[in-house]
Amino acid sequence: NAKRSGRGRAEVYTDALALEAQDRAELERDLLIGLQRDEFLLEFQPQVDVASGRAVAAEALVRWAHPERDLVMPGAFVPMAEESGAIVALGDWVMGKVCETAARWSRSGIDQRIAINISTRELGQPDFFLRLRHAMSGHGAPPAMLELEITESLAMEMEPRVLEQLRALRKDGAFVAIDDFGTGYSNLSRLKELPVDRVKIDRSLVRDIAISAEARTICSAVVGLIQGLGMEVVVEGIESQAQMDVLRVIGCTLFQGYHLARPTDEQDYLARYALVPMITRNAG
Ligand code: C2E
Ligand code: MG
Ligand code: MG
Ligand code: MG
Repeated sequence: NAKRSGRGRAEVYTDALALEAQDRAELERDLLIGLQRDEFLLEFQPQVDVASGRAVAAEALVRWAHPERDLVMPGAFVPMAEESGAIVALGDWVMGKVCETAARWSRSGIDQRIAINISTRELGQPDFFLRLRHAMSGHGAPPAMLELEITESLAMEMEPRVLEQLRALRKDGAFVAIDDFGTGYSNLSRLKELPVDRVKIDRSLVRDIAISAEARTICSAVVGLIQGLGMEVVVEGIESQAQMDVLRVIGCTLFQGYHLARPTDEQDYLARYALVPMITRNAG
């Protein structure tokens, strides 16, 4: 009805919000049941080194095969699980699955780490590292097969206890990465003190680099800063060859994005990216 009164419109709007809230409540209720019913799965997306043309690591990304919905993406349930606390149970499942997979890859001689996303709420658990170590040893996952991705905002607030544990893991061979760099407000002098191997530049920072000189300048400065501190740069969200060309001139060699590969299931990942170079040595 095009001739709705202002009040009518407001009611329609409220209904939409209510539905969304109901939807959220439903998902929230289903999540713990879904964990028990083993409804979650991991997809993997390669990080490619253009110097070798090969995938060097796979980021594990969680999905939910909800019985009554299409595959649910993490944006629809990870933030919610962080709020409710269910992220701890979900994170445990992811941790176990990643360690099991990493152990298997290691036994098969697949020379690629698996990167695992760790949320703020998980890292805040006093026994987080104990549970991680337990999952690693339980499955026989070598530390060098694992990389922890910690978001920029969280990395800046890490307690000494957490920093100490991360240092210990790195000493044992694991990798630590800062995720979504460029989306928060980093204390840049703090960055150099963090026990970190690599920094993943968020896709918002590279979206316009092929069309905007300012975007190029900012990106180039950020890359220079990270490399100057002795850390590796990984660029996320590469959607075009033009972006990759600009980034190679800036000095980046590690890329992740739809232009190279979309996240996919383990079997498909191994068939496509485990053995064969993805791009030829001097392409691009
Ligand atoms: P993230 O860690 O920054 O992961 C990268 C996200 O960007 C993934 O979305 C990936 O599919 C997407 N992506 C990759 N290449 C491109 C591209 O070229 N263009 C665009 N537009 N997107 C690209 P996804 O899988 O939906 O995950 C979203 C976020 O959910 C992740 O962001 C991460 O913060 C969180 N997440 C995913 N899996 C887990 C998990 O197991 N545990 C936790 N705590 N968080 C997770
Ligand atoms: Mg990530
Ligand atoms: Mg990211
Ligand atoms: Mg993220």
